[in-house]
Amino acid sequence: MGISQLASSIAESPTLKLNEEARILREKGEAVVHLGIGEPRNKTPIGAVLSSAVKLTQGDVKYSPTDGNPSLKKAIIRYTEENYDKLAAPENVIVSSGAKQSLFNVLYTLLNPQDEVILLAPYWVSYPEMVRMVYGVPVVVTPEDGTFQPRMQEIERAVGPATKAILCNSPNNPSGVLYPESFIQALVEFCERRNLYLILDDIYHKLVFDGRHATSPYRFSRRDLDASNLVVVNGVSKLYGMTGFRIGWAVAGRRLVEVMTNVQAQTTSCSSLVLQAGAEGALNGLQSTVESLRLTIQNNRDVMMQELKSFPDVRVAKPDGTFYCLPDFSAYNRDSVELSRFLLKKALVVTVPGKEFGMEGHLRLSYAGTIKDITEGVARMRWALDPTAPPEIYLGDRKCVREWI
Ligand code: PMP
Repeated sequence: MGISQLASSIAESPTLKLNEEARILREKGEAVVHLGIGEPRNKTPIGAVLSSAVKLTQGDVKYSPTDGNPSLKKAIIRYTEENYDKLAAPENVIVSSGAKQSLFNVLYTLLNPQDEVILLAPYWVSYPEMVRMVYGVPVVVTPEDGTFQPRMQEIERAVGPATKAILCNSPNNPSGVLYPESFIQALVEFCERRNLYLILDDIYHKLVFDGRHATSPYRFSRRDLDASNLVVVNGVSKLYGMTGFRIGWAVAGRRLVEVMTNVQAQTTSCSSLVLQAGAEGALNGLQSTVESLRLTIQNNRDVMMQELKSFPDVRVAKPDGTFYCLPDFSAYNRDSVELSRFLLKKALVVTVPGKEFGMEGHLRLSYAGTIKDITEGVARMRWALDPTAPPEIYLGDRKCVREWI
């Protein structure tokens, strides 16, 4: 008797593991600075709190339809029209327990064993594991010029007879890069020509800075939504800082949504009605919360960029969106896992190794926390990595002694 080979080969989520390690250290009273975290610190928007509370006080919390409560789907349809200039029907929308589950269900629904999915490095940590979990094969395309912007020729070269889909995320976790409109257009047109699914993980699409905007892929599609090979995934986690509500959704052709609904019916039945009500409250509520979150994060990004300038050997692409940047720390250590461990152990700073995103030598740093987290975190990293700095400092009550790696 043993555990499935496939299941036991699936890697632990490095980001969730780091969150847990940081939580345990904090509980022990350690002064940890968390630059690994992927959630903003804002309070839940009041509209979300009130509509969840109404559901609870009515005391009528039952199953919802598998594909989502009709009133939430209505709010999602309006959101899609406003932000993508695309009119979807209720049959084009399915609500799941977080964008993560939406993505998993899309992959489960699309792939036959050994089908390939093209991922663009740097990619979000969960993509390769999700593809493997449904017996698919992840094929990673890494930009040859060292940027975070893959080229169409590189993607086209990786596509073969087994390719089923291209999965990408812009603005991108972990690099913060927003793919240009011309690239999205080329991707949409290429996928339509080659009959490939294009799965766009748009979870950060409104968290874009400097007056720029993420483009709507539907602008470049010649097919109507039901014949479309486009799948757009979104959710409330990042946009409204509602990570704990676990509500995401996918917009796609109705046949795909229909099969995804059957898959979800046999697994989770539906997302929690209370939390769906919360998502509906956020989508229908005051949208100034999104703008104020975006401005706060943009300011944090600027502070992070300023702080990172003090490392003479670190190169970083200025993020166009998201909460993350992906500086190149290979001048200090080419092994990002080792470097990240060193920083946690010696300076109590949580970072995520670039290796997990297909970019060895880099570290993913989050600026979703406070300005103090950013300045203090980077100052500690500077201390830990500077052989000429004093060998001992106090972090909280703890004396830290640097050993060079
Ligand atoms: N996609 C990307 C790129 C993400 O960064 C995340 C969250 N870290 C998700 C999907 C999952 O979002 P959710 O909380 O809605 O499951």
